[in-house]
Amino acid sequence: MDYYSKQISQMIGELSSLPGIGDKSAQRLAFHILHMPEVDVKRLADALVDARHNVRYCSCCQTLTDQDICPICSNPKRDHSTIMVVEDSRDMAAYEKTGEYQGVYHVLHGAISPMQGIGPDDIRLKELMERLSSTEVSEVIVATNSSLEGETTAMYVSRLIKPTGIRVSRIASGVPVGGDLEYIDEVTLLRALEGRRDL
Ligand code: ZN
Repeated sequence: MDYYSKQISQMIGELSSLPGIGDKSAQRLAFHILHMPEVDVKRLADALVDARHNVRYCSCCQTLTDQDICPICSNPKRDHSTIMVVEDSRDMAAYEKTGEYQGVYHVLHGAISPMQGIGPDDIRLKELMERLSSTEVSEVIVATNSSLEGETTAMYVSRLIKPTGIRVSRIASGVPVGGDLEYIDEVTLLRALEGRRDL
């Protein structure tokens, strides 16, 4: 991208390194930003930096939050004896949008994938097991995606938890294979939850 000045090229380069942003989108965004009032650009930049600086993992469910314990984990009205295991915070948001699920969550931040060299130690499974040993839990609902990695993770989680005597269930398929939970509509999500079966 030599036909742009150094700083513009650098900006386009940074934007195009983001997921889903190709060269064309990066250029469109860059020129849009360059035409924005400086105060708006500063607000955008500050929002990015502040979020990155302040957001951390909830010390209970591991979701991304700007507090030590996230609002769901610290809500006494939630059913803390039911834990739904999801791959990332976006899946959690998808279930929250339905407004029907009353339990709490555990966010793994990934799924086991031998192909990509992601093993059980690379996702937040240890934290889940520690949580199960220190709190009264009656059911763990495994709501990982229905991709190969999601299914592999579900089997692994179930094998880990079974010996503890805690009920382990898996959301029903009917969720499109390989589909990211966050893209599935609320009705399908609720049906998958209601149709869960024991593992
Ligand atoms: Zn939490």
